This record gives sequence, C-alpha cells and structure tokens, in this order.
Amino acid sequence: MCGIVGFVGQDHAKEKIIDGLKRLEYRGYDSAGIALPIDGKIQIRKHVGEIKNLEKIIGEPEFDSSVGIGHTRWATHGAPSDVNSHPHGNGDNSIAIVHNGIIENYQELKEMLAKEHGVEFKSETDSEVIAHLIGIFYDGDLLEAVNKAVAEMRGAYAVCAIAAAEPDKIVAVRKDAPLVAGIGKGFNFIASDIPALLKYVREVYLIENNETVVLTKDDITIYDEAGKKVKREVFHVTWDADAAEKEGYEHFMLKEIHEQPKGIYETLVRRINDDGSINLDGITMTKDDIEGFNKVYIVACGTAYHAGL
Ligand code: GLU
Repeated sequence: MCGIVGFVGQDHAKEKIIDGLKRLEYRGYDSAGIALPIDGKIQIRKHVGEIKNLEKIIGEPEFDSSVGIGHTRWATHGAPSDVNSHPHGNGDNSIAIVHNGIIENYQELKEMLAKEHGVEFKSETDSEVIAHLIGIFYDGDLLEAVNKAVAEMRGAYAVCAIAAAEPDKIVAVRKDAPLVAGIGKGFNFIASDIPALLKYVREVYLIENNETVVLTKDDITIYDEAGKKVKREVFHVTWDADAAEKEGYEHFMLKEIHEQPKGIYETLVRRINDDGSINLDGITMTKDDIEGFNKVYIVACGTAYHAGL
C-alpha cells in the first residue's frame, strides 16, 4: 500500500501533489504518476522508478490544473512498469483513479467488464477495474458512480477519483487503507498519510472505514456507508513534518514497534477473504506447478530472511 495525494484548489495542483508524494517517499515505491483535468480532458502521466523520473515528463507549464490526483505505487498485481503505474483511466480517460490496496475480486470484475461492456484493459493491475467500473456507472454524478462501483468491489482500498466532466472535485473512499483530508482555505487535500499535507495544512479530518468524501476547493463532505452526511471533529496536527513521519514518536524504531499490530492487520486483511480462506490471487502458479518444485530459494536479508524461513 503506498502513497496517494489529491489536491483541489485554484491553481498549481501539480506542484502540491509532487510535494506531497515526495513526503511519502520514505515509505518506498516503484513508480509514480499524476492525473489532471485540463481543458475538458483528463491527462495522465506516469513513470516507473523515482518521482524525479515523473518530474522529467511533467515539466511544461501547460500541464497543470487546479485539481489533480497523484500516486506512488508499490506493485501487488502486475510488474512495476509505466503502464501498470497509477493513475488508471477508463477507456476514454473521462475518469481517472489512484488506488492503494488490493481488489480481491478483480478477476471476476475484469471478466464481467470485458464480456458485458467490451472493456479492453491496458494494465495487469487489479486497480484498473475501478476506473472502468466508475466509468460504466457514471451518469454526470461522480459520487453516485463511485458508490455504485464500491458496491461491486471486495478488498482493501483507498481510492481517489476524478471525472473530466466534473473538473472541480475529487471523490475518495476508503476501506482498510488509510485516508486523511486536509482542510485549507480556498483549497483542500486528500492523502493516504498526514506528512503529505503538512507543508500546506495543519487541520485534517481522519476518514474512517467505509466512508466516502467529496472535496471541492471550498468544501469537504464526508458520507457514511448508508450515504448519510457525517460530522467529523477537526484534528489539529501539532507535529512538524519530520515528527509526523514518525507519527509523534521520538524515533522511527519506537514508531515501528508500536505500529506492529496495525502493520500485521493491514498486511493480512488484504490476504484473508471474508469466508476465512487465504487470497493469493497475485500468484498465477497452479497446484501442479507448485508440486513440481524441488527447491525453494529464500532471497532476503536480516529479519526478512528469518520471516522468509
Ligand atoms: N494493487 C495495486 C497495484 O498493484 C495498488 C498497489 C499499491 O497499493 O500501491 O497497482
């Protein structure tokens, strides 16, 4: 699960999104990308490797907007590559999304979308189905389309979506993946973690599981699963950006010790289906393939090696 940053304001979304993504770099990632609505169309640029690779292909001043979504990916489904990087668009890029997490039933959804709607997929990711689902349900109301798409999805996700026809808003939703909305004046942010926002805002709403958020430059509206508006207390962040990366702990080691229960939960929740069975859908080997193995190499060092054993 890696980084999400969305911005909606009056100008220069690109700069704010890149700033925010850089603040999340310490979490590790394999590629980065950004989507901006420009002149009635969504433009997506993405690149494998570091954010500086992305920066090389987004330099021109015309590639900017007052709204946008950005992502750093940690691949779970499909190799790290330009095409598998986020954001993903639907067929005509009238919708674009970024996603953290795993969509467990993406194979079923992919088959349904291909068979019933003639969708052609560009990437190997689980995430691309989200853009197509929203696209199919879209009828001028992004919030409604996101809610309908979410009803079809199983898994763990934080998703941000934009629509070319509603270039003044971002709709975001979360289930078992973190999401926080940053409250500005004349602009608002959405991100997967607080450090991404701290250069610009100190007041945030912590979004809870199964909530949907609509952000415009002047408003942040949170809805619960039943579609009812939720009133959320403002959380004032008192840490500086460096301390926020450590979530208030004095050292990274302390933070890491204390986040073990959360870390284990977030890792396993994506791999355990609702019926208790284990989900390893990223592994495409059959039982016969596995039975044919005569040797297993564990390539890792330190704790990762011991865990591998
Ligand atoms: N499952 C998605 C992918 O492989 C999202 C990974 C992430 O959380 O960065 O593209």
